[in-house]
Amino acid sequence: MSRFVFFLFLLFDFRATGQDHDSVFIRKIADEVLLNSQAYRNLEVLCKTVGARLAGSPGMYKAEQWGVNTLKAMGADKVYLQPCSVPRWVRGGKDEAGITYQGRTGKQVKNTLDVLALGNSLGNGKNGVRAPVILINNFNELEQEKDKVKGKIVFYNYPFDPRYVQQGTAYGESGVYRRSGPSRAAKYGALAVFTRSLSSSSDNNPHTGSTSYDTTLPKIPCAALGLKDADMLARLLKEGKRVEGYLKTMAHFLPDTVGHNVIGELAGSEFPEEYITVGAHLDSWDVAEGAHDDGAGCVQSIEVLRALKAIGYRPKRTIRVVLFANEENGLRGANKYAEDAQSKNEKHLFALESDNGGFQPRAFELGMTPVQMNKVRHWLPLFLPYGVYEFIEGGGGADVSPLGKVMKTAIGELRPDSQRYFDLHHARNDVLENVQRRELELGALNMAALVYLVDKYGL
Ligand SMILES: [Zn+2]
Repeated sequence: MSRFVFFLFLLFDFRATGQDHDSVFIRKIADEVLLNSQAYRNLEVLCKTVGARLAGSPGMYKAEQWGVNTLKAMGADKVYLQPCSVPRWVRGGKDEAGITYQGRTGKQVKNTLDVLALGNSLGNGKNGVRAPVILINNFNELEQEKDKVKGKIVFYNYPFDPRYVQQGTAYGESGVYRRSGPSRAAKYGALAVFTRSLSSSSDNNPHTGSTSYDTTLPKIPCAALGLKDADMLARLLKEGKRVEGYLKTMAHFLPDTVGHNVIGELAGSEFPEEYITVGAHLDSWDVAEGAHDDGAGCVQSIEVLRALKAIGYRPKRTIRVVLFANEENGLRGANKYAEDAQSKNEKHLFALESDNGGFQPRAFELGMTPVQMNKVRHWLPLFLPYGVYEFIEGGGGADVSPLGKVMKTAIGELRPDSQRYFDLHHARNDVLENVQRRELELGALNMAALVYLVDKYGL
């Protein structure tokens, strides 16, 4: 045996025993989570006693208290609040919309549309707006039809592209119509905007989500339509019908207020000044319980801490569970967390997020150096028994990305199966009853395994 081959033999032998030990330990984490998880129970309390918790709302404060109490009860060594200024957008009542058009018999037909004003949008008062609706399938078409837009309600009907297997890709592509569609229509004199909900669901629930106005243009009201209503409206307009639309929303901003990131720590034994963050956002839209988005991520992150502590694991580094404030309509909690880390010159090794729903885990998406990525990829066999079969190079989630940008921290996010998430994302059916207990737990146990390996071996 040449010296080189012998060296290789040693290396593989070492790796095999290392992974054997790790596979036994991860089995222990898995057993703890699958037998004793508190994740679903904690989610039940969050959903049913707090419910909706948009930044600045009374629900936000109740949720923060829930976070403090839950982190303490699950065994955090230290729990504290990190204050940050948050916006306070309110819907201001029920959003109303409808259409009238001439039916086949020549009679006027009136239909009510199921709508939700987009987050951060501004309403138009009690009288609402009435105007003819113009169908715009995409921004190219908007440019072509720009002379016809003035005085109208623009209806963006850009669907999820069904050819994307990952629904997040379709969401990313269609999302631009929600975010910048209203201002682009306002530029050509539109009075209001209807957008097709960012979903591929089979029901008619509208899906809200934040929009972003260009401050140099009129801030026109805008609302998302459920898919059945969107299809119906598109059909009428394609038939060449003159459709008169109506939209009334009372959405507005109240003055900014103070919200908090809720933080719980498990102190590191060897490198207490080095941090591994595992987190999710605590806020949710006002129309539902925020069970998948992102109550699930919150209770999974807390479960990582609980399970590691329950099996007697003493982390080398300090593990920080962070329940971020204001992801949905501002990201101010995440920005504050990164700013604070930078100003205190903290050492952040890794930050992991769960914000894609509490569904069957499939992968982790990681934003790190190629060397780090290579190291993590060697751990993949340890995850296969628990449903994670891939480490994908990518960004990491919204709440950990400021840390990645500001501190160059390696970041990652859990990527569960995406097929059902956008059926309920930002819609009124995002409730506990649509979360499957075992899928939620499997996500938590894979997160705990990754945190354990990063803590043990570094990056
Ligand atoms: Zn979310």
